[in-house]
Amino acid sequence: MSKPLAFVLGTICLLASTSFGEDLDEDSPGFGYYGNPDNVGPPPHEWGANPLWRTCAVGREQSPIDIESKNTTLVINDIFGLDTSYVPANGAFYINQANILEVKLNGGGQLKIQQKTYYLKQFHFHSPSEHTIDGVRFPLELHLVHKSENGELAVIGIPFSYGEENAFLATFWDELPLLTDSHTSVNLMNVDLREPNLDMGPAYARYKGSLTTPPCTEQVTWTVILGQGNTVSERQMWTYSKRLQYSNARPVQKLNDREVKRSVRLLKLR
Ligand SMILES: [Zn+2]
Repeated sequence: MSKPLAFVLGTICLLASTSFGEDLDEDSPGFGYYGNPDNVGPPPHEWGANPLWRTCAVGREQSPIDIESKNTTLVINDIFGLDTSYVPANGAFYINQANILEVKLNGGGQLKIQQKTYYLKQFHFHSPSEHTIDGVRFPLELHLVHKSENGELAVIGIPFSYGEENAFLATFWDELPLLTDSHTSVNLMNVDLREPNLDMGPAYARYKGSLTTPPCTEQVTWTVILGQGNTVSERQMWTYSKRLQYSNARPVQKLNDREVKRSVRLLKLR
């Protein structure tokens, strides 16, 4: 793939109000994860103690989950199931106050699910992965966060396995050491999420879940890519872990009575 993208380094104050993970509410108080001395709030099992975050404790459709193959319903060629049309966009690359590495995009294209349009707002990374597949956890999971005109959220989760260096990550990953604190961001140009930069096929799981960060709001349409086409090298994970040493993965939640659909695309549709 073509080599990056010009970078402009800037230290800006856009992070005085920060979005956390999937959550687009910019007034959220801080929260943390297990074992991180830099936590600005409680770890996952205490999130629900905050009255504003009760759903984290009492919600019945929470994310992430373990996607168990034997408990999925197979759907073949759902042509309206996952229709992405992304465009290269500029963005701000930063580490938010919950120690989540995030790129807030200016534009970026859209996702259509069953004729409904969701606009790409930001993407961010969890390590290790939040979703597990048949109990297997991955070193990294990318969340692409989309929002519809009336505020509904759809998130695509993409697990990365260890393997070859990832060309998409390589376009901005080496800027990571520059993110010395949560007030520093690097401006990225022409961030391109289109295939082959990201591999979205051939199978994905779909279920109704929640934000994996407080306030754990439900009614989020989740798509988790099941193909193993996205890899991250040990060197890239080393770069990540030098800056972010602690887990930012919420533990898997109960499935309860939800259905998980497993869609397989047998034709190239785009
Ligand atoms: Zn996330």
